[in-house]
Parts: sequence; C-alpha cells; structure tokens
Amino acid sequence: MTAPLAQVNPSALRLDPRTLDRGLSCVHCGLCLPVCPTYTQNGLEADSPRGRIQLMLGLHEGKIEATETVRHHLDLCLDCRACETACPSNVVYHELIEETRAKLPPAHMSVQDRIVRWMFLHVLTKPTRLKLALLPARLLQKIGVYALLRRSGLFNLLPAGLRKMEAMLPDDGPLWPRAVAVSLPPSSVPSTNRSETAEVSMFPGCVGSIMFARVNQQAVDLLQAAGCTVIAPSGGCCGAIHHHNGLHGDAEAMARQVIDQTLPIGAAKLPKYIVTNIAGCGAMLRDYGTLLRDDPAYAERAKQFAARVRDITEVLAEIGLPAMAHPVEMTATYHDACHLIHAQKVAAQPRALLASVPGLKLVPLPESDMCCGAAGTYNLTQPAMASDLADRKLRYVASTGAKVCIAGNVGCSMHMQSAARQAGQPLKVVHPVEILHQAVFGDHHGPT
Ligand code: SF4
Ligand code: SF4
Repeated sequence: MTAPLAQVNPSALRLDPRTLDRGLSCVHCGLCLPVCPTYTQNGLEADSPRGRIQLMLGLHEGKIEATETVRHHLDLCLDCRACETACPSNVVYHELIEETRAKLPPAHMSVQDRIVRWMFLHVLTKPTRLKLALLPARLLQKIGVYALLRRSGLFNLLPAGLRKMEAMLPDDGPLWPRAVAVSLPPSSVPSTNRSETAEVSMFPGCVGSIMFARVNQQAVDLLQAAGCTVIAPSGGCCGAIHHHNGLHGDAEAMARQVIDQTLPIGAAKLPKYIVTNIAGCGAMLRDYGTLLRDDPAYAERAKQFAARVRDITEVLAEIGLPAMAHPVEMTATYHDACHLIHAQKVAAQPRALLASVPGLKLVPLPESDMCCGAAGTYNLTQPAMASDLADRKLRYVASTGAKVCIAGNVGCSMHMQSAARQAGQPLKVVHPVEILHQAVFGDHHGPT
C-alpha cells in the first residue's frame, strides 16, 4: 500500500519497477523464515526475508530512512537465496537486495573496512595480483615457517577482516598456480567409447583459478575423459563480488568482457556449454541475462550466454563418466552450496555422481542446504554471523561422523576448512570433482 504523500520521504530508495513487482508479490506467509540462516540464528523479524522485504519496500515508499539499524538488517543478509527456494509466491528476493545495496548511498566505513573492501575488489578478483599477494605466504609455507607463525598467534593481531582472509588460506598450494591445460597426454585419459563429443568452455573464475587451480585442472581432465572438447578462455572475473557489493556498473563491464571472450562475435562454432565448478560464479554467469537486459548491444548475447551455463556436475551427469576403476574408500557427507542449490537448482546431479563412486559411503547431512556463512565476501564483512553459521554447519557435519565434507564451491570450502582448523575439528573439505577424479584416474592428489 502506498503511504499518504505527507509521510513520504523524498530521499527514499527508488527501485526499478520490474524489481519492485517481484518484491510486491510477497504474501507475508512466513514460509521462508525457517530456512533463513540469519532469522534462525537470532529470531528477529527484521533479519528474516519477510522483514527485509518490508524494510526495502519501506525505503522505496519513503516510509523509513536508511538508518544504521535498517542498513545493519539488510547488510546481515547473506544473499543465500534459501528464501527463494521456499517461497510459494516466487519472490525473486536476490534482485531486491542486490538492487537495494547498489542504490543506497555508501555507508560510513572504518579505515580497516576500506582496506578489506579494496583488497577483495582489487586483489581477489585479479588473478595476477592475487598470486603476487599470496607469494610470500606460499614461500613461508614451503620452508615450513608459516604453520609456526600461525600457531604463535601472531596473525591474531590483524584486524578482523584481514584475519579472516589469512585464516582462509589453505595450508598448501603452488607458488605460482598455472592456467588449466586443455590437452592431456593420451595415455593419461581412460578410454571412452563415445563417438560424439561436445565442445565446452571452461570458466575457471578469478579466486578459483588461483585457489582451485588443481580442481579446475581435474574438471578439465574429467570433461576430456568423458569425451568433451574443452576450450579454456583466459579467465577473468565473472563480476559476482562487485555485483554483491553494489557495484553493478563494474559487474556489467566484467560480464561484457566474459561474453566477448567466451562467445566471440563471428566465431565459426560456439561452445555447447559454459562450465564452471564454482557455484558462486555459476550463479552470477546465469544471471547475465538480467544484468545486461538494458544494454541493447549485449542483451541478446547475455541471454544466449546464460542459457549455456552449467555446473560441472550437470554436464558430467548428462554425458556420463568413463569407468571408475579406482575405489575411493571413505565416509563423506555432502553440503549444498547455496549458489548451487538455491540459485542454480542443482542438487540431484552431484549426489547421483557421488553415489556411483565405488567405495564411497555418502551419509546425509542435516540442514545440508543451510548457508555455511561464506557467502562470497560476507565472511570478511560480517565475521561474527559468518563464524556462528560455520560453527552450526560444523556441528552438523560432526554429527554425521564423516571426516570429509564435499562441497561444490571454493568459498564454502575455504570458509569451512578454516573454521574446522580453528576449532580443532578433524575435517577435510573437498570438491565433488576431486572425488570423481580420484575414482576415474586413481591419482594420489585426491582427498584420501
Ligand atoms: S537471502 Fe538468505 S539470509 Fe537473506 S533473507 Fe533470504 S534466506 Fe535470509
Ligand atoms: S515465503 Fe515468499 S511470500 Fe512468504 S513471506 Fe517469504 S518471501 Fe513472502
């Protein structure tokens, strides 16, 4: 209902009518409340999807102002999209929160917050800068000093956001991660009887191409072994980090670049699928049609691009894997990354693939589709809630008895792994691709 003119604040947020329509379809039923991580943690209506929708509509209608308290409730949202899965009214909540964040005037930030924000916008999203930034830590890891520094508590002196960044650094990794190679020596590829091949483009991601370089390579190995011809574009950032932090113009520029690289105009043949093994990237890539809908030069190409995007598990489940000759003897549980299950609706395929791995015992995880608190850069900007949600996830993982948790997103892996390390909980977080690669190739770089 629109407020009387006398009560309207002219400085209110103005939402795009298309976004507003999706917000107004909320019927206040409350079915989304029990699936919302923040509401189930603190029980506040203002930290529920229904409450936040009312806040955003109130801002739009000028009934309320963007006070620090209002902003806090909106900032505490993980944009995990669990509410969309639960909603019988098809509210497309993420468009509301993302547009609101982009249109509200910038909030006051401390110097520390500015440094952390600069780092995730200008270092995490630039693979060469990220490699350079990580090089000193990797060198210290190689000579065995880094673990000592960690144990000494020295890093506890860092501000919260930087401390979390440090804590998420995996214990080991290459000094200078290489781009994925797309042609394996024939002897390393198990034979496949397939006569048809699909041409697919691999999207390695920005953080993914550094932190997940080995998993990206394993994904390419599996795709090739399954009979695909793989094209690996030079990489880059999908724009998700900028988009989720309200910088839509930057995200749009990145999307145009990715589209130009992946679907070049005039190419004789375009890839059937654009494949990623990072759920956060996949969700953003699938949203390009909406992101660029008002750009006449890209709107149609963005739609074509989005229609081709697939998670690696969807492609492997569709075309089939070669024989898995190497049993993977372990008990593991599976965590649904929010941007895989809620944003991309991919839940059955990874489970079906994992169920076919010889030796693997997959035990169900209670609340498997509840956010672990990673949520892109959320764990850097909202460390307290992120940490509470990680503890909750780890408690459920521990209740299964499994010492391995499988998750299809680099952010979830790094967040859960660092939380487990800090809590002293014996847990290894791995990607489904690592398990499948071990089952097909029998390598020694898998999770066991
Ligand atoms: S996106 Fe997630 S955290 Fe935000 S309101 Fe919806 S369920 Fe809650
Ligand atoms: S489930 Fe949908 S319609 Fe019901 S309160 Fe939540 S957002 Fe509104």
